[in-house]
Amino acid sequence: MTTTRSMTSIQNLNPSTGELIAEIPCAGPDEVRAAVARARAAQPAWEALGLEERCRVLAGVADGLAERADELADLATREMGKLRGDAKSEIQGFTKMVTAELEEVQEALAPQTFKTKGNETQLVRMPHGVVAAITPWNFPVGMPLQILGPALAAGNTVVFKPSEHVPLTGQAIAEIIQACVPEDVLVLVHGAGETGAELVAADIDMVGFVGSRDTGKRIMESASKELKRLVLELGGKDPLVVFADADLDAAADCAVRHSLRNTGQVCCAVERVYIEESAAAPFEEKVSALAAKWKHGDGFEEDSKMGPLVSEEQRAKVVAQVDSAVEEGARLVMGGSCPDGPGWYYPATVLADVAEEQRISHDETFGPVVSLSTFDGSEEEAVRLANDTPYGLGANVFTGDTDRGARVAARMQAGQVGINQYLGGAPGTPWVGARQSGFGFLGGIEGHRQFTWPKSISKPV
Ligand code: ADP
Repeated sequence: MTTTRSMTSIQNLNPSTGELIAEIPCAGPDEVRAAVARARAAQPAWEALGLEERCRVLAGVADGLAERADELADLATREMGKLRGDAKSEIQGFTKMVTAELEEVQEALAPQTFKTKGNETQLVRMPHGVVAAITPWNFPVGMPLQILGPALAAGNTVVFKPSEHVPLTGQAIAEIIQACVPEDVLVLVHGAGETGAELVAADIDMVGFVGSRDTGKRIMESASKELKRLVLELGGKDPLVVFADADLDAAADCAVRHSLRNTGQVCCAVERVYIEESAAAPFEEKVSALAAKWKHGDGFEEDSKMGPLVSEEQRAKVVAQVDSAVEEGARLVMGGSCPDGPGWYYPATVLADVAEEQRISHDETFGPVVSLSTFDGSEEEAVRLANDTPYGLGANVFTGDTDRGARVAARMQAGQVGINQYLGGAPGTPWVGARQSGFGFLGGIEGHRQFTWPKSISKPV
C-alpha cells in the first residue's frame, strides 16, 4: 500500500503495520478559499486585541498541550511511527517553548522609538494578515508549533495544513489552540500537496513552511505572483567532519545518534561523515558497535530504538539510495536490506568508503544510514567537502585542536554549526537554513519578526 496523495481523501496509514487509521477528506479549492475567507474576516479583531492580550490568550495553549500530552504522543506514534518516548519528549519540550517564546515574541515586537532633533519616529511591527502554515510529519507537534505560536502572537490569523501523514496529530494541535483563541483565528484544512498548493495560491499574505527543498521552491514560485511573504525551512545534507585528534568516542556517538535518531528523518540529521584517513579504521569500529544497538521496532515497544520510516515511498527512496551507493562502490558494513513482515522498517545501516561522486553524498537520505567517507586530514579539504552541497542547514566538526575547530566552523556554510558537540543553538537563537536549506528564519528575535513588517510613524516634537 502507498499513501494516496489524491485531492479527495487522505489514507492515514500506521507505518508500523500498514493498517488504515482513518480516511480523511481533503479540502478542495472551494473549501480552501472558504477557510482563508474565514481567517481573513477574523484577523482585524485579533490584531486589535494587542500584543500583550494575544500573548495572554495564547499562554493557555501550553496548558492544553500538557493536558493532552499522552493522547498527542500516542497519535504521533501511530501516525508516523516515532518512538512513544521521543514523541512525549517532543511535546514536553515544545510545550515549554510555547511559554518562553511568547515572552520572546513580546520582546521582538515591542514598538521602538527613535529620536532626532525635532522629530520622533516610532517603529511598530504590523502583522502580515493571513498566514498559511504548512508543516511536515517528522516532528508532528514541534514543527507546527514553531510557526503557529509566533504567527498568531504577532496578530496574524492562520490557516493550518498539517502533513497528510499526521492529520490527526495536526487536528489535535488545532483543537488545543482553537480552545484558547476567538473563532476562526486558527482554521484547519486537511489535505496533501494539492491542498497545500491551493492554499499558497489563495488569498493569503504569507506562507510559513517546513518541508522539502523541492516543495519550498514550488511555494516560492507560486508566492512570487503576489510577492507573498515567505519563511521556508527546508532540508539539508549536513556534514560531520572528524579529525584524527578528536575524541573519537564522542564523534562516533554524534555520528550514529544523529544519523539514526527519528529513523534518520530529521532535517538536520548527520548525513555525511568525513573522517581523517589515519583514524578511519578505529572510527568505523566504534560506529559499527554503536549502530548495532539501534534496534528497529514498533514505537510503542520499550526496547525499540527506531521506529519505521513514515511511508512505503520514503523507504523506497532510502533503499534506492543505499543500493545505488553499493553498486557504485560503497562498502556495506551493516544493515542495508528491508526486513520481512509488515511495516516500513529499515535497519540501522552503515556504509563506508562512500565517494564524493556518489548520489548518496549529495541527495538528502532522510533514513537511518551512517555514511562514512575519508579525507586527507587537511582543513582545506575538510571545508571543501563539507560545503560541497547546495544545502546549508547544519554542520559539525570534531577535533582536539580548539583553534582548528573554530577556523573550520567559521568556514562551514551552514546556519548552525557544532564544534565537538552536535549543532543546536541556545534558546533565543534563530533556526537558520542557509543557502538552499531555507529562506527566512524561525525562532529568536529575528525569526519572530518575520511574521510582521516594520512600519515607521514620524511626528515633530
Ligand atoms: P516531505 O517529503 O517531508 O513530506 P513535503 O515538502 O513533501 O515534505 O511536504 C511538507 C508539507 O508540504 C506537507 O504538509 C505537504 O502536504 C505540503 N506540500 C506538498 N506539496 C506542496 C505544494 N506544492 N504546495 C504547498 N504545500 C505542499
